[in-house]
Amino acid sequence: MAEHSPLETEIRRRIAAAGPMPVGEYMGLCLGDPEHGYYITRDPLGSRGDFITAPEISQMFGELIGLWMATVWTQMGAPENIRIIELGPGRGTLMSDALRAVQMIPAFRDALAVHLVEISPALKSAQERTLEPWGVAKSWHATLEDVPKGPAIIIANEFFDALPINQAVKTTRGWHERQIGIGADDKFTFTTAPDPIAHFDMLLPAAVREAPEQSIFEWRDDKAAMQLGKRIADQGGAALVIDYGHADSGVGETLQAVGNHAYADPLTALGDIDITAHVDFRALALAVEAMGAKGFGPIDQSQFLRRLGIETRAAALKKKATTRSAAAEIDAALARLIGHGRADMGELFKAMCFAHASIGVPPGFEKS
Ligand code: SAH
Repeated sequence: MAEHSPLETEIRRRIAAAGPMPVGEYMGLCLGDPEHGYYITRDPLGSRGDFITAPEISQMFGELIGLWMATVWTQMGAPENIRIIELGPGRGTLMSDALRAVQMIPAFRDALAVHLVEISPALKSAQERTLEPWGVAKSWHATLEDVPKGPAIIIANEFFDALPINQAVKTTRGWHERQIGIGADDKFTFTTAPDPIAHFDMLLPAAVREAPEQSIFEWRDDKAAMQLGKRIADQGGAALVIDYGHADSGVGETLQAVGNHAYADPLTALGDIDITAHVDFRALALAVEAMGAKGFGPIDQSQFLRRLGIETRAAALKKKATTRSAAAEIDAALARLIGHGRADMGELFKAMCFAHASIGVPPGFEKS
């Protein structure tokens, strides 16, 4: 018998006991199993990690978000105490760059306390190290619900894409949940539940309902989005969500696995690969807005960062660059963040804001 990793052994045990496993449960275990999950056991970020995110590409990203937060705080009436909450802060790079930028605004700097929502012990240690020099009040929490009450500015960059998705496949008989089972070759394989999901059509947007057979529809549990919406509506403040995904709900499989900087099969090397899926911004907005927060966007990341002045910031940094290669690096980072090419983030990534009704239009989301 082949040697399986502890995580694979556990998932096989569960499938043997209860039958094929829904995609969401599988993804949740691969990423977040308290012992063997991908995020639990390592720091996957940065140029030597499995993938690279916008704050790891350039300091400009976090700096602009720091100034964005300061403007939102002013729009909130500059409360004396403001919680800055980051969901899935990675290595703490975004928050560190944001804190550098807000040193220019002492009243805001003195009003804020940082709250980090993180499941990964490895990344929590990285965040501790990265944020230490700023000497701000900071604390860690397992979920947004654990963060003490009070007006807040919430940041989530590449957080929602890491939350588990479920999948359903359309057949003549309806939509069947997609599952992971064990094939005749003893390997993991995708299967579909024998019976369709009852009344599933009623929950679907019209365009998805009319999709051809064999179409795949993906959805996330709304819990995290609803917690966010409720917090904003009840306690005040705003949330900025940046992620890769689509503005409208639609069919199509987007589940993707990455390991060692290359695409991987989501059904192999469990726990050693990152598994993500596009964020359906329409579905996210419906869940957040249902709780009473007001949505703005989504707009492309390129448009959002341009409106916040990324080109001016890049030019200023280039003036200070002492070598030609340092200047070229700034150009390359700018192109990666706002470019529209396949490997760039400008178009694929979207920014959306959810705000308390009293705030008005948050910076970057003005109607053009
Ligand atoms: N925002 C960072 C990191 C993105 S990676 C950046 O842009 O670089 C996803 C982050 O979310 C990691 O910090 C990961 O550990 C965290 N994470 C994933 N699932 C989570 C969950 N269910 N609860 C809290 N944090 C989670």
